[in-house]
Amino acid sequence: MRTVELTDTHTVEVGNTTRPEPARDELLVEVNACGVCTTDLHMYTGSLAVDYPLVPGHESAGDVVEVGDDIDSYRVGDRVAINPSVPCNECRACKSGRENLCHDLTSIGGAAKHIIDGAFAEYVTVPAGNVERIGDLDYRTAAFAEPLGCVINGIDQVDLTSGETVVVVGAGFIGLLLVQTLRASGAGTIVVSEPVAERRELALEVGADYTLDPTDEDPAAAVTELVGDVDVAIEAVGLPQTIEQALDLTGPGGRTLVFGVPPEDATVELAPFDLFFEEREVLGSYSLTPNTFARAVALLQNGRIDVDTLVTDEFGLDGLAEAFHQMENREGLKKMVYPGQ
Ligand SMILES: [Zn+2]
Ligand SMILES: [Zn+2]
Repeated sequence: MRTVELTDTHTVEVGNTTRPEPARDELLVEVNACGVCTTDLHMYTGSLAVDYPLVPGHESAGDVVEVGDDIDSYRVGDRVAINPSVPCNECRACKSGRENLCHDLTSIGGAAKHIIDGAFAEYVTVPAGNVERIGDLDYRTAAFAEPLGCVINGIDQVDLTSGETVVVVGAGFIGLLLVQTLRASGAGTIVVSEPVAERRELALEVGADYTLDPTDEDPAAAVTELVGDVDVAIEAVGLPQTIEQALDLTGPGGRTLVFGVPPEDATVELAPFDLFFEEREVLGSYSLTPNTFARAVALLQNGRIDVDTLVTDEFGLDGLAEAFHQMENREGLKKMVYPGQ
């Protein structure tokens, strides 16, 4: 079967390997669509240290083509989305339903303690517990179940109540997915802070009520004038300065969520008196759980999320290098790879 491997930093090789055999508790899935994530880019550039060679790709959907001997619940021909996170199911985090915090997490092509080959390949093997049926949902939309599962996990962290005011800092792919999911989750007013005009327009298109340019005005003052106190500020960039902005934007009794992936050694300024005096919370969100993945599939199946606006570029397996190139130049939003093409 054809795969794309990262063989070194900035090196992508399209090659042929033997099609894997599913173990007794696994399915073999023919991959029909796989989204390209910033994590894949970090593995490619080396800013996320991984052992090469590695087949990346962790946002995928396809058809079951072989079923392990011990599996009764799936059949050849089932259409599925793949959750790449394989928890140990034995540790304390797993047992409390927080499989994303598993002490011994394995990822199929994504970032985790153990990484196994992912879905930028014609076929991938997955444990039966890692798929959700997608019915007649198209594969491209179904491939959004993984990032959307992460977004739902984030919104769970802030415990959103209907009608609350939310600010999203950053309208890249994840920021725009957050806006849509916040809307589906009952946010009352959504404000987006984003320096790029095109992205501000997209934010309005997918459900934001107001946008502002943080390079043009002080975001905190602008937001207060627009909507008053903010209940929830979500940082979707992953930079110290935008995290500080999100902290600054959060109103009394509000919550600040660090959703973007910050550099590991980054630190931010935080005034503890404000947390004390305004009873504010600062929260983090990492990855997804089997529960948020299943809920993501439900949102997608019922048309709550518009993915078409977010996909800007599409490739076959041999286009992955070009996709990375575009991402490094900040061109477009979501890139999709179709391994069968
Ligand atoms: Zn991802
Ligand atoms: Zn575990």
